[in-house]
Amino acid sequence: MAAPQVLVAGAGVVGLAAAYYLSGRGFAVHLLDPGPFPSLASTASLGVLTHFNGGDDPLSRLYCQGHALHAELAIRLRDQTGIDVGWRPLGGLDLAGDEAEIAELRESLAFNLERGCPAEWVEGAPLRQLEPGLSDRMLAGVYFPTDQRVDPAALCRAFLQAAQQQGARLSAGERVEAFGQEGEGVWVRTRSAQYHADFLVLATGAWTGELGETQGLSLPVRPVRGQHCRFSGPPVHHLLRHQGAHLLPAGGELIAGATVEETGFELQTTAAAAERFTRLCEQVLAQPVRLLAQYAGLRPKPKGGRPHLGRLQAQARVLVVAGHYKSGILLGPLTGQLLADWIETGGPPPEMQRFAPER
Ligand SMILES: Cc1cc2nc3c(=O)[nH]c(=O)nc-3n(C[C@H](O)[C@H](O)[C@H](O)COP(=O)(O)OP(=O)(O)OC[C@H]3O[C@@H](n4cnc5c(N)ncnc54)[C@H](O)[C@@H]3O)c2cc1C
Repeated sequence: MAAPQVLVAGAGVVGLAAAYYLSGRGFAVHLLDPGPFPSLASTASLGVLTHFNGGDDPLSRLYCQGHALHAELAIRLRDQTGIDVGWRPLGGLDLAGDEAEIAELRESLAFNLERGCPAEWVEGAPLRQLEPGLSDRMLAGVYFPTDQRVDPAALCRAFLQAAQQQGARLSAGERVEAFGQEGEGVWVRTRSAQYHADFLVLATGAWTGELGETQGLSLPVRPVRGQHCRFSGPPVHHLLRHQGAHLLPAGGELIAGATVEETGFELQTTAAAAERFTRLCEQVLAQPVRLLAQYAGLRPKPKGGRPHLGRLQAQARVLVVAGHYKSGILLGPLTGQLLADWIETGGPPPEMQRFAPER
């Protein structure tokens, strides 16, 4: 019997994870994406896999499972493709530079410990031992040993290569303009072609709301711009957090980010972001830094604070996996795995109703 065919619209981290897990289970996968590759959101993303601090609701459970998946996935992808996806258990350090921030950090420590999240207060010599390059302005910190990082662009490249080794195809330069279900199959139209398959997966990130509207569907996912800057400078060893921003090591460089900006589909980087993150480095680090590059991407923001995951009501062979907002790198692999389960077994299960795509 021929393998069931799945069209995946969108080759960001979520679409690629879907392609990887589906092709690994024998589905014939065809990815369609207008480009660029890796997606701008993946390139701009920090790749932080933040500690999980409890909660027993469906979204918290996804975070917990998503976080737990990365270490083993990194090994599997490296064995299969030779690509190091940059997964590192760096540990995180939330930093305080004045009395008000110290009070906030103490509250955060109590909250995290109460919820069973490993965390530890550090100041003085132990703080300097953990992170020798800190400036004198940094007075205290909370250390989170379970914070991790993965390189989002490398993860995307590895997913694509592994999926292709398993038989998946990518058609770059293809934007889905219309789609629908007809009987036991689906169709998709792009500017240059019409495709048919057994299933369609919409992994179109920040563009999902716009694409839904063209089909008369309410899939309210909208773009929220994020920027980060890369610097050369003194080495840092952990994921440093200060005043709502991150500073982290990446291949000999420093990454500082990220902004959260309601600027629609505008993708330009700004001088204001470069200034903000240069100032952050000056505050947190003892040594000066030099700006090397700046990136912007669009986070897919969902309605209701939870991703849109599941089948369309009237077109059960069309599945949506979009709206991961600030956590698409953390949740992308798990989403791909769950999606493959649902296509294989007829899910999603009833407890996922909360994530139903149409809102
Ligand atoms: C600055 C910044 C920092 C971030 N930091 C983190 C972090 O530390 N940790 C974390 O977990 N997450 C982080 N994120 C969020 C994360 O990057 C996103 O949630 C994730 O990349 C979204 O993946 P996606 O595949 O849903 O969307 P995308 O990567 O945007 O992929 C969607 C793809 O769909 C394609 N597409 C669009 N329309 C169509 C169409 N009509 N037909 C076919 N294809 C189409 C696009 O070309 C694109 O390639 C950050 C994001 C930003 C911007």
